[in-house]
Amino acid sequence: MHELSLAESVMQIIQESATTQHFRRVTRITLEVGELAAVEADALRFCFDAVSNGTIAEGAALHITPISGLGRCNACGATMSMRERYGLCEQCGDPHLEIIAGDRMQVKELTVE
Ligand SMILES: [Zn+2]
Repeated sequence: MHELSLAESVMQIIQESATTQHFRRVTRITLEVGELAAVEADALRFCFDAVSNGTIAEGAALHITPISGLGRCNACGATMSMRERYGLCEQCGDPHLEIIAGDRMQVKELTVE
């Protein structure tokens, strides 16, 4: 279950931001989660609740924005939306698609006090 390590890395980003930006409390966290990142939103929320317990982010609302998967064909250069990590090029049928968006998770915004 990699949601736990993702939740821990979110918590780490929050703590680093708190050190540099001097806030005391996080009330809302906006995450962008790629559709190809294989992240279970419910599992991520559960893990985040666990790792944020007793920290400045305890009780913060976790807002998850899904990001569509986007791929580029290495053969013909066409770009296309992707629902899975592997697929065939819609233009030329080549199987070597490079994922250019939607395969990662990032902290987009923190609402702090
Ligand atoms: Zn192609």
